[in-house]
Amino acid sequence: MRYFSRSHNNRKSLRPPDLYEYFVDNFWFKSVDLENQKINEPLRGKHKADIVIIGGGFTGLSAAYNIRKKYPNKKIVLLEGACCGYGASGRNGGFCITTDWIEGMEGFDLENRKKTLGMSSYGLRQIKQVISEYGVECDLEENGMLSVALNNKHVKVLEKHHAYYNKIGMESTLLLGDDLKAEINSPSFTAGLLVPYGAILNPAKLAREMKRVIEELGVEVREQTVVTRITPGKTILVDTELGEIQAPSIVIAMNAYSHKLGFFKNRVIPISVFQIATEPLSLEQWESIGWQNRQGLSDLRALYNYSRPTVEGRIVMGGVNPQYYSKDLLSSGNDKFVSRRIEEEMFTFFPQLKGLKIEHAWGGTTALTLGNKESIGVIGDHKNIYYGVGYGEGVPATQTAGRIIAELMVGESNDFTNHKFVNKQIPYAGPAGLRKYFAIGAKWLMNKYDLRLYR
Ligand SMILES: Cc1cc2nc3c(=O)[nH]c(=O)nc-3n(C[C@H](O)[C@H](O)[C@H](O)COP(=O)(O)OP(=O)(O)OC[C@H]3O[C@@H](n4cnc5c(N)ncnc54)[C@H](O)[C@@H]3O)c2cc1C
Repeated sequence: MRYFSRSHNNRKSLRPPDLYEYFVDNFWFKSVDLENQKINEPLRGKHKADIVIIGGGFTGLSAAYNIRKKYPNKKIVLLEGACCGYGASGRNGGFCITTDWIEGMEGFDLENRKKTLGMSSYGLRQIKQVISEYGVECDLEENGMLSVALNNKHVKVLEKHHAYYNKIGMESTLLLGDDLKAEINSPSFTAGLLVPYGAILNPAKLAREMKRVIEELGVEVREQTVVTRITPGKTILVDTELGEIQAPSIVIAMNAYSHKLGFFKNRVIPISVFQIATEPLSLEQWESIGWQNRQGLSDLRALYNYSRPTVEGRIVMGGVNPQYYSKDLLSSGNDKFVSRRIEEEMFTFFPQLKGLKIEHAWGGTTALTLGNKESIGVIGDHKNIYYGVGYGEGVPATQTAGRIIAELMVGESNDFTNHKFVNKQIPYAGPAGLRKYFAIGAKWLMNKYDLRLYR
């Protein structure tokens, strides 16, 4: 299997190695010129560390950042199979949704509401912290989110959300008719709900910049370092393709890839999601669709579609049809059928853009759990294997996970470490062989009846 057989010898190119799939058409990778960026040398030979982090996505990067702040003098080594940002973290929509943890707040008093809101938006606050403290550039735009209805059922859902926001004292604006048209001009949208919370960003820039920050803080980052085996114990042995390293504590930050090393099998389920990026729009084209306030935009279908502008004036659109392939094939890198469907939706939503070129199409592998919520915690007989996996909206939640992992490591007890997602049992999702058929059935049902499993 390719996963175990990749060789590092005679590497001439700076291009990151193909760990599972590498689709060069990822617009975000292009925007950071990833093929010409320095990719760190792999770990070779035998080593010891105090803490080893496996995975250089947002979970691993945030864990490194937060652990370093707790332990300024410990030897922390992050091992990444390809390059930091190679997984979902460098491929996603860049939506930073800050209202993920606010469900069920009606019964809370003011104090508790404030606390929950503060916790829900922590991920974004941490991103802003690395921007202000370390000059991280990731095109962050705090423009809020706009959900749009495509039919009457969706309008009712928006009204319900609007009433909920009102009840818990959060801002939201229901948009109808000309007000909606002034915000975004599409013949498909019948209503909209605007919330001033949340942001969009360039995820590959954030990942590559966070790599720089943790290195500046003294974390050793080894890229091109595929971990092939983890042997738990009081001291944990981590085998890599070209070496080994032992440490008394490790962090599993591989999300969708965790099962490859035997973690969270049949519980954290890899799915592939696909996106396209248009060429830059002209000023006239932008004027024709409105969207001057540049919010993150999504509709309300069970298999929803999301889109956002980029600083280059492009539209990145994704979603519609997440794919579950099998336990071993994590992503095809680019599923032409799905990309074409996204493209069709682009011109259904915005017929005035007909003729606009689609310049990039790519995929990424993320993970679902039943219930679509993350679990962050610590496992193992010696309680020394920390982890964060299975996020719904992982861009901000991974930042929070890194904080929680660091706090658990030092034994802190606070609202974050006592949150219901900490050490949450991840439900069993059934045997891998059957899952493909379950996924096909579930998608068919969701499409036909617009069933909303988790939104
Ligand atoms: C197309 C797409 C769109 C999305 N859009 C959004 C969005 O707009 N907003 C949002 O909040 N969330 C979004 N998500 C989800 C979000 O990207 C993820 O939840 C988040 O990035 C997970 O981060 P992570 O660090 O846990 O995992 P990853 O970013 O996947 O990182 C895991 C890392 O582990 C490495 N690795 C794997 N196996 C090994 C090994 N054996 N040895 C060494 N290293 C290994 C991988 O190379 C990878 O870099 C999207 C996901 C996708 C795919």
